[in-house]
Amino acid sequence: MFLLGLYLPIMNIIFASQNANKIAEIRAKLPEHTIEGLDAKAFPNELLETGDTLDANALQKVRQVFEKTGKNCFADDTGLEVEALNGAPGVYSARYAGEQKISEDNMNLLLHNLKGETNSKARFRTVVALIWEGKEYFFEGVCEGEITTAKSGEKGFGYDPIFRPNGYDRTFAEMTMDEKSTISHRGLAIDKLVEFLAGK
Ligand code: IMP
Repeated sequence: MFLLGLYLPIMNIIFASQNANKIAEIRAKLPEHTIEGLDAKAFPNELLETGDTLDANALQKVRQVFEKTGKNCFADDTGLEVEALNGAPGVYSARYAGEQKISEDNMNLLLHNLKGETNSKARFRTVVALIWEGKEYFFEGVCEGEITTAKSGEKGFGYDPIFRPNGYDRTFAEMTMDEKSTISHRGLAIDKLVEFLAGK
């Protein structure tokens, strides 16, 4: 199958995530049947992510899955880095407003903390950690943009309604999944993963 001009053989890789939105975004960029989801019975609980960098968390997640399955697998970890907040919430994006990890609360807190701030620059950064034939690899994707002053759009997930990528007049939540993943942090990291796998 040709993808992005590359030949990618059908290969079974586990994506170490229980996030249905992420799985859909990534599946849409890869040939059918390439990605296996996590087996809910083998992994009934959330994967631990206790690191203080995106790299550490992505690696921690993928190692848990590799140790249990022995299969090729990858995991991602994403952070929203806001310039006026010195890079916060960053690696703590999921629990910015508390351990319940509620996106609505996270967005409200971020909008509150940026009230009156003129610098709205922000970026999403994704690190993908891959274990391929027992070796570990990393791929990074960055999407520059800004935090809007109010939520807009219904699509996507997480902070999508308040993030507008540079060069666009819409938030991620106002884009189709395909549109978002052509320019998004995760989409760009996955493009690099695909390029790597195509060489295998
Ligand atoms: P994690 O990578 O699942 O740990 O995500 C960290 C936090 O960033 C969570 O609150 C997610 O909802 C949010 N997040 C991750 N990816 C995206 C995205 O593509 N758009 C908006 N929010 C995201």
